Amino acid sequence: MSREGREPEEWRFTNALMRQALLAIGEVMGERGLNVVLRQAGLERYVDELPPNNLEQGVATAEYATLNQEVQEFYGRAGKGMLQRIGRASFRYGVEEQATLMGVAGTALKLMPQKTRIKFILTQMAKSLMDVNEDTYIEVQETPEGLVLADFTCGVCCRRKAERPICYLYVGSISEAVKWATGRDYKVREIECRAMGAQACRFLVVES
Ligand SMILES: [Zn+2]
Repeated sequence: MSREGREPEEWRFTNALMRQALLAIGEVMGERGLNVVLRQAGLERYVDELPPNNLEQGVATAEYATLNQEVQEFYGRAGKGMLQRIGRASFRYGVEEQATLMGVAGTALKLMPQKTRIKFILTQMAKSLMDVNEDTYIEVQETPEGLVLADFTCGVCCRRKAERPICYLYVGSISEAVKWATGRDYKVREIECRAMGAQACRFLVVES
């Protein structure tokens, strides 16, 4: 359940985040590919017009989940890698939107140790996602294995069922965020997924 106590069926998703995801899908799949998955997902309303670039909750989270599922099915075995690419591109669109803020943060980060930088960016992601959406609840956890971002209201797998973790787009976004903050490539693994019945989707940043 979300912070507001709503069930996944009722969760709402932020327009600007949906817009970034669609721009990223268009970048990776091309406009025709984007239009195919939009139609498959029942999101024809975005074929000619992307959602507005604002922080209102104009999308059902379940629709965002269906979009992820359609991209995955479109590519079959290659879906995982494509969705990770889309997640990376999505994060970059997000950075562009907040260029000034991110520029200032980036300069400050350069003086910090690697682990502090990772914690900083995960905490920022969690905070900004929760600030704009009262359905969202995310924790950043320090574990013996490393830092974990735990999303109790993950939109990628909202109402989906699976036998393995499926939030590839999220893995891509976190990977790109960590790269942005550290200048290095860290592996990010989804170690638990709500689609498998877990309480939260948990993403581990593997430090090695
Ligand atoms: Zn998930």
